[in-house]
Amino acid sequence: MRLLIMGPPGAGKGTQAAFISEHFAIPHVSTGDLFRANLAEGTALGQEAKKYMDAGEYVPDSVTNGMVRDRLKQTDAQQGFLLDGYPRTVAQVAELDGMLGGKGLDKVIVLTADIDEVVGRLLNRAIEQGRADDTEEVIRRRLEVYEEQTAPLIELYASRGILVEVDGLGSVGEVTDRIMKSLNS
Ligand code: ADP
Repeated sequence: MRLLIMGPPGAGKGTQAAFISEHFAIPHVSTGDLFRANLAEGTALGQEAKKYMDAGEYVPDSVTNGMVRDRLKQTDAQQGFLLDGYPRTVAQVAELDGMLGGKGLDKVIVLTADIDEVVGRLLNRAIEQGRADDTEEVIRRRLEVYEEQTAPLIELYASRGILVEVDGLGSVGEVTDRIMKSLNS
């Protein structure tokens, strides 16, 4: 099972990804989590990534691609994985295609949510978790960057016939049920 979950910041990718990865017993590979782990460990990669993350910009491919390539080489990812946060640009799609060789993604889940809803969720998360990139200004920038650079991936994966669109509004359990149903159909 090689899956990707995508959607705007605040759509609930991380929460749903945890359920999906447990259900299929595949590792949850989140680039945001990998960057934050690097930052917590004080690595050079983490410090480089922080500059971009704090501004709501994408971390350069020169940093991101290698990190994902290394992660996908690990033993636990050989039987499948759930990617979350990568690829985020058309160029990263080409990189990932190269990493996977003939074995492309099986399904791409896109969680949809309207802008006001996601801004509200992210502002709440800022209060609860204090993430540095959850200020209103940075949130707006992240949404802009998503629209410009990541939303085009929806069409791209739809044209490959592997896109599964799921409404991200509702309770966590409702959204999980929708995802499971659409993966099984
Ligand atoms: P969200 O999906 O809520 O924006 P993430 O935790 O997935 O949050 O990502 C946080 C930040 O990490 C992004 O705003 C970006 O700066 C950086 N990042 C994550 N994945 C990538 C990627 N594939 N390419 C470039 N930057 C990335």
